Amino acid sequence: MAPETPKYRRILLKVSGETLAGDKKFGLCPDTLKAIAREIKEVVDLKVEVGIVVGGGNIFRGLAVSAQGIERAVGDYMGMLATVINSLALQDVLEKTGVPTRVLSAIHMHEVAEPYIRRRAMRHLEKGRALIFAAGTGSPYFTTDTAAALRATEIGAQALLKGTKVAGIFDRDPEKDAAACMLPRLTYFDILEKDLRVMDSTAVTMSREQKIPIIVFKLLEPGNMKRVVLGQEVGTIVES
Ligand code: UDP
Repeated sequence: MAPETPKYRRILLKVSGETLAGDKKFGLCPDTLKAIAREIKEVVDLKVEVGIVVGGGNIFRGLAVSAQGIERAVGDYMGMLATVINSLALQDVLEKTGVPTRVLSAIHMHEVAEPYIRRRAMRHLEKGRALIFAAGTGSPYFTTDTAAALRATEIGAQALLKGTKVAGIFDRDPEKDAAACMLPRLTYFDILEKDLRVMDSTAVTMSREQKIPIIVFKLLEPGNMKRVVLGQEVGTIVES
């Protein structure tokens, strides 16, 4: 059989907290974590360098608590800490799956994670370690989507993969409308102009400026992440 040649040699995968929760509304689903780890391993086995940004929405969202009277910035720091919890869980499962992994946190907490230092991140990637970037950007008022676009830019990722629960970007919400159609190809401008809420506008704008394609795909479909990395048509690709 001919060897499989990846289209992308270095990628950044964004996984939302909601995905990590599986069918539950809150917390972590162990089977989902294992399934995600298997997807990542398939790609690491192709010698693709992988950075991962995990969200925290399955535990905590700054905006939600600010509505309850906690100051927004405080809520955001709480949200960033939630991403660290998710990062540690994913690291544990990845290592048990056979993927050497480092967690690099934008908020320094030496006992649980290395501090995020770009040059160190690059060295880890060259050594074949998967990286989990925890604590978002380290600043309130941002999201982990923006952290994903930022880290993708910093590490020179050739694609930003947004793993979701649905197959790609649709013209309408596929969970509410069975007639919704998936859109295989979009421009950054389409997303911004039509206000398609797949990623926040800061993340889309940054990806557009850096010319990093965004691929929105169903993460929990076995083999899907590998298909994306091999350049096969999966989900929706957003580019210029
Ligand atoms: N957050 C933040 N700065 C960042 C990234 C995240 O303040 O750079 C906070 C924010 O409160 C956010 C929460 O962390 O609501 C969890 O992240 P996000 O909502 O992006 O997670 P996801 O929706 O991907 O699970």
